[in-house]
Amino acid sequence: MGFNKRRQSISEADRNAIRSDRRFVELALDEAYRLLGVRPADLSLEARRCPFHGDDHPSGSVFTDYRSGTWLYKCHTECGWNTLDPAKPGSTGDAIAVLRVAHAETGQPISFPEACEWLLNEFERRFSAAGSKSTGLTDNNAITPSVEDIAAAKRQAIEAHEYLLSYQGLLDHLHDQRAITKEVVDRFRVGYLEQSGRKWWVFPIYNDAGQFMAQKRHCVDGLAPKSQWYPRGAKLGNPVWPVSLEGEGPVWLCPGELKALAVISLALPAIGITSGEKQVELSPGVISILRGRSVAIAADNDDTGRTWAREMQQHLSALGIEARVVEFHA
Ligand SMILES: [Zn+2]
Repeated sequence: MGFNKRRQSISEADRNAIRSDRRFVELALDEAYRLLGVRPADLSLEARRCPFHGDDHPSGSVFTDYRSGTWLYKCHTECGWNTLDPAKPGSTGDAIAVLRVAHAETGQPISFPEACEWLLNEFERRFSAAGSKSTGLTDNNAITPSVEDIAAAKRQAIEAHEYLLSYQGLLDHLHDQRAITKEVVDRFRVGYLEQSGRKWWVFPIYNDAGQFMAQKRHCVDGLAPKSQWYPRGAKLGNPVWPVSLEGEGPVWLCPGELKALAVISLALPAIGITSGEKQVELSPGVISILRGRSVAIAADNDDTGRTWAREMQQHLSALGIEARVVEFHA
């Protein structure tokens, strides 16, 4: 099982901690998918593919029992996955039950304390400050990736794109929550990826010569870091993504890929700023694209967003490019 360390015993407080935090159920489900070789087709807070029966359509869900405050996993097909009490199989259970049943299914059952210990250690590794130093907006560093790393990242981005295209629930989510159409997902090869307990939208960044450079990832799950480049260190300069000049009117400069994809979904020209509101300079290539066109800078409705938009406007105006800041109020 590869425990980080042994615990003396499982206290009542430990059990309560496991039962009162949703993330333990998520950890247990992730491990069940891994152990049982099931592809987790799901979205945070939405329907789960049941790891315990051949579930084509996600029919499981994670919820909290309002009386006890315990987070539970339930399969709505009533497949009876929870066989911990063989006399009384059920379709609902907590993180400990999910983990123990998954292990039992592999033929190597684990005890109640072993399951608790694994969950507590895994939780510490994933979520504690010591286990994750990356609490900022992005987690870049200065490592230069190898050619093999970049090739692997490209293959993964292609798989992530194929996966997203095949999964209607994710496409619906992008359409309904982010105003991004399937046509735009297809055109820009947007992907979806789950890795190490995190869920990401994946944007493949190509350079001007058409070579794959990196994945830019933006979180689906709201956890920190909110975005990352992969492989690490693959980001060079200030790339922009996506870039679409099709359509009438000003080119919309958007802080973030998802907003730019939404504008492009309206058949308007847009450019996404991949470094969000930290990036005020634009590369000579992008400047040349914008020459002769007017620019609308989409400002997020907060101080950082407005400051970024104003600085970007000054940057473009100094270059002789007409730019207006557009603010959206809640
Ligand atoms: Zn099931």
